[in-house]
Amino acid sequence: MSEGQRGFCGLRTIEKGHIKHLAGTPSKGLLSWYRDPLPTNCVADWVCEGSRHPGCHNLAVFYESCTADCLFCQNWHFRQMSPERHRTTSASDLAAAANKRTFCVCYFGGDPASQMPHALATSKLLARRGVRVCWETAGTMHPKLLDAAVRHSLDSGGCIKFDLKAFDEELHLALCGISNRRTLANFARAAKRSHERPDLPLVVASTLLVPGYVDPHQIAKIARFIAEIDPDIPYALLAFAPHFHMSDLPYTNESHARDAEAAARASGLSNVRIGNRHLLRQP
Ligand code: SF4
Ligand code: SF4
Repeated sequence: MSEGQRGFCGLRTIEKGHIKHLAGTPSKGLLSWYRDPLPTNCVADWVCEGSRHPGCHNLAVFYESCTADCLFCQNWHFRQMSPERHRTTSASDLAAAANKRTFCVCYFGGDPASQMPHALATSKLLARRGVRVCWETAGTMHPKLLDAAVRHSLDSGGCIKFDLKAFDEELHLALCGISNRRTLANFARAAKRSHERPDLPLVVASTLLVPGYVDPHQIAKIARFIAEIDPDIPYALLAFAPHFHMSDLPYTNESHARDAEAAARASGLSNVRIGNRHLLRQP
């Protein structure tokens, strides 16, 4: 990045030789939020207690920036947001949106990895009030920031939902515009701390079944990688719907999902689930 240019996520620039943060700091989050009544269609709903708290809600925090550039992004509208043209929200104002019915907060987007100082500052305030802290991320943040996120989730009863989009680096580069090395390393780093809270999963993995790209062989490789760390880590396989630059692809069909589930189990994982079943199509 040289003088005046923007970084990949669009929130950092260089001014007079120094990095300038346009957003993502505790005082300036580029985001939107809403209260999502529980039970919600959370990626980890089948392994968490959220579904047992009807009447409560999840504070859903959508960060309007990302560290990846996926061809199939279903939330690509965040690309139209800019810290110069749109309102930002401080961590304390966001935390003040929680009330006595807020059971959990989930940071997603976009990806919280692009605004970690803001998300961590918010987490500190919310965890003090007994709100569970959860993350939905491709896991590209600096490992030290990941450690801080893990701490908040461990202490509050929340979890980190890692989106593992592909195992082969070339495929990941083609689909998402970035390498998956940091993602896999961070997944392993967080998952190895699961023993600190054995009764409630700390990490949950998910993969989108993109037709023609993320096939059962790819799923087997991801599942083997997860199982070598811990075979009980929950793994959700998600049905794909056409979006963004992949709007001409078909939906995931049932046999693709079934074969992927079988491949994940055969690779050693014990807790595999097909999510978004309503999107599945007949072969
Ligand atoms: S955000 Fe966390 S606590 Fe809330 S429903 Fe999802 S996994 Fe459960
Ligand atoms: S990581 Fe998620 S939000 Fe970011 S570009 Fe990829 S699909 Fe979209």
